[in-house]
Amino acid sequence: MHPRLVRHLVLPIHERLCGRDTVARLAALEASQWWSGERLGALQTEKLRALLRRAYDRSPFYRRRMDDAGVNPDRVTLETLRRMPRLSKDEIAENVKDMLDPTVPGGLHRCSTGGSTGSPLIFWIDRPRQAADQAGRARTRRWFGIDLGERELYLWGSPVEHSMQDWLKGVRDHVTNHRLLNAFRLTPKRMTRYLTEIRRFDPVHLFGYPSSIATLVRHARTIGKPVQTPSLKCVFTTGEVLHPSDRGVIEESVAVPIADGYGSREAGFVAHQCPEGSYHVTMESLIVELLDASGRPVEAGKSGEVTITHLDALGMPFIRYQTGDIARRSAGVCRCGRGLETLERIEGRRTDMLRTQDGGYAHALSAIYVLRDEPAVAQFKVVQRKDLNLDVYVVERKRLDPMRRRHAQSLLASQLGKSIEVRINVVSRIPPDPSGKHRYVISEAP
Ligand SMILES: [Zn+2]
Repeated sequence: MHPRLVRHLVLPIHERLCGRDTVARLAALEASQWWSGERLGALQTEKLRALLRRAYDRSPFYRRRMDDAGVNPDRVTLETLRRMPRLSKDEIAENVKDMLDPTVPGGLHRCSTGGSTGSPLIFWIDRPRQAADQAGRARTRRWFGIDLGERELYLWGSPVEHSMQDWLKGVRDHVTNHRLLNAFRLTPKRMTRYLTEIRRFDPVHLFGYPSSIATLVRHARTIGKPVQTPSLKCVFTTGEVLHPSDRGVIEESVAVPIADGYGSREAGFVAHQCPEGSYHVTMESLIVELLDASGRPVEAGKSGEVTITHLDALGMPFIRYQTGDIARRSAGVCRCGRGLETLERIEGRRTDMLRTQDGGYAHALSAIYVLRDEPAVAQFKVVQRKDLNLDVYVVERKRLDPMRRRHAQSLLASQLGKSIEVRINVVSRIPPDPSGKHRYVISEAP
């Protein structure tokens, strides 16, 4: 369908039918991205007060929290918000009924995330929040010259393929210029078919997990069939950390920018790369704090857990929600001139990072490099225990002599803190995780 028809007619009607004011919100976001940091901060404070006032009046869970922390919803500031305790996934599971406000316009809609860390999280979202997240996403497409309604190809997970709901979604995708290709099972035969479908559809933007897009372009290279996308303007990745090796292989195959986004179904559309490469926070909808393990804000350049307050989630407030993801804030402003604060990079899941003795985080790679450079080590796995000490499981290629062993131990300990104990355990094999993946570093630290 013609993009202008989709942009000016189909999408506005679709959004209106869903009770979402996405188009109006997008227009507002287009203007506010150029505001100063102070003006954006003032908008956040104003929205925070409205959110907390509503939560105080309608959610017994949050009323208790605010009373206990001595937070007055009408006078709260971005600083005094820090008096409220952080919100964990376990607390959501235990208290969700006491958190909800079913009177929110458009009602509440149930969602769940599988999550890589065990039990799924059940939560509820409302229409205003969906519209805010959609508009935030649409704004980042405009950064790369892509308007609403232009042909978009998704390479995305979809475990169920033939349900009625999927058929309906298929019809909707058709009239809104979306196409979905299932990224869950990328067999060679299927990928060859996808390359034909991509050529026929000729997407303006391609969206998916970086590892899936990289797998597809590697396959194209193997079979000598190029990825033909003459209209393509940008590749958007999300859902996983974008590794330089995946970025490199995608860049070689498509001559367009690659822009990475960070967010989740429960946390919302948190941050996205601009053409200059900075991850800009969607400040109009989210307050993002980066905190160390004891809940103190980390300085620019240091890693901390992404903790969000979603300013448009009214039906089920997320106030100081711990996402479990680790990122770094950058110092200074972005060259693109937008006033939206920036993150330097998204580093991964908290469970994939190591905890340091001073309450900070060390990237898994800091341990991986030590062991990968040790010639006697064929395979390894690092498990950080609750007391922060490390159990390193090693499959030997040849015997690891005592001097090399002590050297590896001291290098690993130096990354985390002086009194960390590093135990090297030689084993005959390292079984994969239940998910089938091999994770080199796992932290059980709280
Ligand atoms: Zn920028």
